[in-house]
Amino acid sequence: MKVYNTTTRQKEEFKPIKDGEVGIYSCGPTVYSSPHIGNMYAYICWDVLVRTLKYLGYKVNNVVNITDVGHLTSDADSGEDKMEKGSKKEGMTVWEIAKKYENEFLENLKELNIETPWKMPRATEHIVEQIELIKKIEANGFTYKTSDGIYFDTAKFSDYGKFANLNLEKLREGARVEINEEKKNPTDFALWKFSYSNGRSFDSAQDDGAKRRQMEWESPWGIGFPGWHIECTAMSTKYLGETFDIHTGGEDHINIHHTNEIAQGFGAFGHNTANYWMHNAFITFGGSKISKSSGGLYTVFDLKEMGFDSLAYRYLVLGSHYRKGMEFSVENLKSAQIALDRLKLRILLDYSTENIDNTNEISEDYINEFNKKISDDLAMPEAIAVVWKLMKSDIKKIIKLKTLFKMDEVLGLGLEDFYNKTKKEELSEEIVKLVEERQKAREEKNWAESDRLREVIKDKGYLVEDLKNTCKILKI
Ligand code: AMP
Ligand code: ZN
Repeated sequence: MKVYNTTTRQKEEFKPIKDGEVGIYSCGPTVYSSPHIGNMYAYICWDVLVRTLKYLGYKVNNVVNITDVGHLTSDADSGEDKMEKGSKKEGMTVWEIAKKYENEFLENLKELNIETPWKMPRATEHIVEQIELIKKIEANGFTYKTSDGIYFDTAKFSDYGKFANLNLEKLREGARVEINEEKKNPTDFALWKFSYSNGRSFDSAQDDGAKRRQMEWESPWGIGFPGWHIECTAMSTKYLGETFDIHTGGEDHINIHHTNEIAQGFGAFGHNTANYWMHNAFITFGGSKISKSSGGLYTVFDLKEMGFDSLAYRYLVLGSHYRKGMEFSVENLKSAQIALDRLKLRILLDYSTENIDNTNEISEDYINEFNKKISDDLAMPEAIAVVWKLMKSDIKKIIKLKTLFKMDEVLGLGLEDFYNKTKKEELSEEIVKLVEERQKAREEKNWAESDRLREVIKDKGYLVEDLKNTCKILKI
């Protein structure tokens, strides 16, 4: 299998550290608000990677962390902790906020048929590991203290800007507006942030009547909380070892978060912690990054309320390459929904009388073609094209289904489940009438009405597929 490695900026043959086994760490969600479809785009992409590796025969140990402390509103170590901000906004404690949005994230995983990761460690439950790691980095001479925390001295790591091709000179020039004047270099970042100036113990802070943060811990340097970057290095290496196979995340993490993780790995262990760094591109809305101002901040549950299947969103994502990203629009989602419905209908239309358990035979030709695509840095749009080619082919139906269900181990569209749960049933008068009305609309080329009736019929539990001059209908 070939994967694109951000470290070398090229596709490389994937070679695991341990034969037949892969360790993957994916930066997890910051649980201070509802995950939007942009966040879930990332997790669908990495679920496809995990599924592909399993399908190709690897044992996969994948870790997705929960960031429940330390992610500040600005990636440059300033601003408020996103968790504290969420807490104020909703009038709940940070712990309640963390629980609420972690649960929402888990519900999103289920909706999108994303396999439950092997481990989902919470940052707040790994404070000891983070402190130990900072101690190591400190002992190796990479840290210094300011009034607001323990910082990583990026000048001590000569390759600091290499991973992201950073122009350090330019960053230095731009640093005149730097808020934290105590930092030695603009790229230095906090490993440990103090709750109270200069790092103090609980007792002395309380003596002064200082207001306690909701999330803070005792440390060798003073009360405080860990930086966002150290969380990922601590949790990835705890579960996967000091060097592991693949680290993933959104491309927004290349410049700061992952650059800093690499620096920390160097500071603590003397090397990069991951052999392959993979990054997903962004989904956009109206041409810009989805955000409060540009719009598109839909959640998967918003899409559901709009009448879409959550898996139609997954199908839409599969149609984009993870390194290209995609432009999201309701129109595109509509097309994905129709395509997914068609795929399901194709499964049902002619084949439901067959007992697929009678064979284990699959089409080697189609599987080989499919494997070639997924092994080429997850070329999913091409892999989907192979799926359609298979469905339109005239190979023996029962083999076709078996082959499709095998491919769906990677796609994760729940197709075999759908097939097993669906039964052919007698149609009611009401449904027949609706289908006839819809046919009439189609004959009159009244597409809007025909689309509307398709939805009405679907709400009643039936899928319609248009054939040349007629249509077929099946119960979902
Ligand atoms: P966060 O919860 O903000 O830490 O983000 C979780 C993940 O979602 C990160 O890996 C981000 O890179 C990713 N992400 C955020 N917005 C988008 C987007 N519009 N498209 C793709 N990935 C995104
Ligand atoms: Zn991370």
